[in-house]
Amino acid sequence: MLIMAVPFLCEAVFLLGYVIIVALTIPQLPGWAQPGVEAWLFDIPQDSESSDNGSFDETSPAFSGAVIWNDYAGPDADIFGVPLHGPIKHWSETYDKPLLGCLFHDPNYGDHTGADFPVNVGTPIHATMGGVVVWAGENGPWGNLVVIENGDYQVWYAHQESILVVIGQIVSRGEVVGLSGNTGNSSGPHLHYGIKKRTGKDTYVWMNPQLFFNPDEVINIGCSD
Ligand SMILES: [Zn+2]
Repeated sequence: MLIMAVPFLCEAVFLLGYVIIVALTIPQLPGWAQPGVEAWLFDIPQDSESSDNGSFDETSPAFSGAVIWNDYAGPDADIFGVPLHGPIKHWSETYDKPLLGCLFHDPNYGDHTGADFPVNVGTPIHATMGGVVVWAGENGPWGNLVVIENGDYQVWYAHQESILVVIGQIVSRGEVVGLSGNTGNSSGPHLHYGIKKRTGKDTYVWMNPQLFFNPDEVINIGCSD
């Protein structure tokens, strides 16, 4: 009887060990990886500042995926406000201002280079800075991406469903540049909003987008709630 019980005991020990490991691991995971987290908050960290010109494709010839600076300087160069205007639909709810999910270098998500606004697919995205469109199209992990440049700044609008501007176009602040979506490294509908500043000939830094709008312009729901 004892010998027959051995396989069952082994299995029980294995299962118990498995459960303990999972129970110990889950609380260590970032918020988005824990159970009950809404999938739309998840996009892959865009660690693009290491060596390329700000895009994913640093190894391809002539940086074909990179977003090249245009050296444009024109009106509406100040960045302010939020890229989504109320009323905002998120799932079946309607909000009078945009929801703010994952933050710049969110504690749950340290490499995050922008702010995420969870919003239904198809929501109009408004430029927060006028300038020239230096990227309008698919761009690897960023999905359908629009980048608008003015002076030493580029504003990035990622994961779009559809793009409503073309490269070289001059846009004004407030103009609709595309419709939000869930393309690229994104597991749910949201707008990834990034602000990049040129700090030297070939050096750049991502800015915290929250420095460019007021806290009362958004509803902060957190990265893992
Ligand atoms: Zn994001």
